[in-house]
Amino acid sequence: MSKVQETILEIDLKALSHNYKHLKSKIQPKTKFLAVVKAFAYGSDAIEVAKHLQNLDVDSFAVAYVNEGVALRDAGITKPILVLHPQPIHFKTIIERCLEPSIYSLKILKEFINVASKEKQQKYPIHIKFNTGLNRLGFNAEKVDEIITILQKTETIKIASIFSHLAASEDLNEKEFTLNQMNKFKAIAERFIEQISYQPVLHICNTSGILNYPEAHFNMVRSGIGLYGFGNSEKENKNLLPIASLKTIISQIHIIKKGESLGYNRAFTANKTTKTATLPIGHADGIGRQYGNKIGFVTINNKKAPIVGNVCMDMIMVDITNIDCKEGDEVIVFGGITTAETLAKETNSISYELLTAISQRVKRVFRR
Ligand SMILES: *Cc1c(COP(=O)(O)O)cnc(C)c1O
Repeated sequence: MSKVQETILEIDLKALSHNYKHLKSKIQPKTKFLAVVKAFAYGSDAIEVAKHLQNLDVDSFAVAYVNEGVALRDAGITKPILVLHPQPIHFKTIIERCLEPSIYSLKILKEFINVASKEKQQKYPIHIKFNTGLNRLGFNAEKVDEIITILQKTETIKIASIFSHLAASEDLNEKEFTLNQMNKFKAIAERFIEQISYQPVLHICNTSGILNYPEAHFNMVRSGIGLYGFGNSEKENKNLLPIASLKTIISQIHIIKKGESLGYNRAFTANKTTKTATLPIGHADGIGRQYGNKIGFVTINNKKAPIVGNVCMDMIMVDITNIDCKEGDEVIVFGGITTAETLAKETNSISYELLTAISQRVKRVFRR
């Protein structure tokens, strides 16, 4: 690997293969695997990640919004793509690009049938989402009969799958709640299937569900964060490899004398002679202001350098007083010992948020 010369997000596709294989080893061979590649595949690169997983024979993909699905189709992804949170304004595009909507309310169901019949569709695959306790998106259990009544009047759509989403699958203190969600889901699915003449795919598990609840994999699982190398627990993290490393370089070194300040609003004042490095990465790249003022840190020559002062839009400054380094040297923001999860914890955040915040301005570099 050549030396880093600008801020890059390095994406290790071998690590992605490893994570995929590990997660696959946790499910039955007949259980389908849906890869969640929403939000640029958790801040990495949805197209490269989806292409790689398509070659590894993943069964299908999910994105949050229609434009994310369109981008995958434009890039040549041919496997089914579930759109988790579509808006009616895009229903025509969904059909034109062979995307499959999650249908979560009667309003949305009726609107989709309307558009699909105008587009002269027959048996268009849709996915019915039930709310089993997250209280975010989805039909409540009582709606089963009304959905069935609507279905019986149309040939336009067919139910490809019935699914739900877990609220706390990573938290074993919430096991009772999670098992209750699973039981509710099972009851809903059984009532539903009794009244239609075919068997839709059933799925409820996200990554932590896959790892913690092998009895609830049903016919398919949906994994996002696990593919990207995090298992939401120390034990599970050991079996996975973070695919993304955020690296940058030292642009300039300053010696700040005692009493001098640094950065916007003079948020840092040196109480002794302090050596700082200015780095070409800021809040516009995804390192939020909450990481400033010694909350966040980077690694230079294997030593921790805390962020000093406020995070700027395009730069941060770090304290390198005790680090032997020079302008042009490589800096690790996360990757290796400091993972995105470790760094996110410094701000009471989670790997998901830090990863997905890495903006499109940061160049993606792939290791194959
Ligand atoms: C984001 C998302 C997932 C993926 O969850 P992970 O914890 O990243 O595995 C699965 N299902 C739904 C409905 C989601 O919104």
